[in-house]
Amino acid sequence: METRKVKETKDGADVKRFRERLKDKKKIVVKIGSSSLQHSETGDLDYTKLDVLVRELCDMRNRGKDVVLVTSGAIAVGKKAVNIKDIKHEEEDNPIAVKQACAAVGQARLMMTYQKIFAEYNQVAAQILMTKNTIVDNLNRYNAHNTFSELFKLGVIPIVNENDTVATYEIEIGDNDTLSAIVAALVDADLLILLSDIDGLYTDDPRQNKNAQFIEVVEELTDELMDMGKASTGSSVGTGGMNTKLIAAKIATSSNIDMIIANSKDIKVLHRILDGKNIGTLFVGNKETYFDLPEFVANMHNN
Ligand code: GLU
Repeated sequence: METRKVKETKDGADVKRFRERLKDKKKIVVKIGSSSLQHSETGDLDYTKLDVLVRELCDMRNRGKDVVLVTSGAIAVGKKAVNIKDIKHEEEDNPIAVKQACAAVGQARLMMTYQKIFAEYNQVAAQILMTKNTIVDNLNRYNAHNTFSELFKLGVIPIVNENDTVATYEIEIGDNDTLSAIVAALVDADLLILLSDIDGLYTDDPRQNKNAQFIEVVEELTDELMDMGKASTGSSVGTGGMNTKLIAAKIATSSNIDMIIANSKDIKVLHRILDGKNIGTLFVGNKETYFDLPEFVANMHNN
């Protein structure tokens, strides 16, 4: 497919300058989605990919960065473990309970796998499970913030997911693209990287429109761009499409955090991004905006 690379910048500002800045990032949140962690043919975990992911994250720590991993996969791994092939059929009676039960099984399995691989690199990892209340409730938010800070001081990599076993509609964040941006804002990160099954942002859906153009840099998230996301659809495994990625970009950039969407088919892009290479779509953090995270999260499903 032919795609022409374009940049979405005001005043023809230099893409290179934005990319160079990535070399100095100190606190990095990386998000990986369920579809990127599984073999598409079987739905089983892709251990090779997980291994590369963990190695890249450990290497970021070795470069002196603070690192957070936001990972999906609890429901997908749990479904596999209890042999639910078609969740829709099982879901007929109580869809939420089935998903929550799968998450309860899958989250533990997922962590077991991560812990094993992190241990191979002598890296301590921790688990943090969040809900909407973690941000909206002042005391919970304060506690969560302090826990992350303490973990960074201890050199630990926190592994975050939504607490799917208790999160129902009223208290759910819903998808891990949004969750990862919320985490980035909560921990005062300076870079968020979303690893996804797409290369980045296009002017249209590249699977349907061969003239869709790739966007290298977004300096301003216009209403037009946000509307483009709403029209897009997501993958069949995770919950996020382009819409949730643009919401994540809104949260991140409004909190003055740069965000990148990059393709997870080669997870080694992580260190290349930190080397300033031009990979994926970069959304440039905006210092000028005022952003109230708890208020945004409280009103999330009404936005
Ligand atoms: N929290 C869900 C899980 O771990 C996934 C949400 C998402 O895919 O965005 O299974």
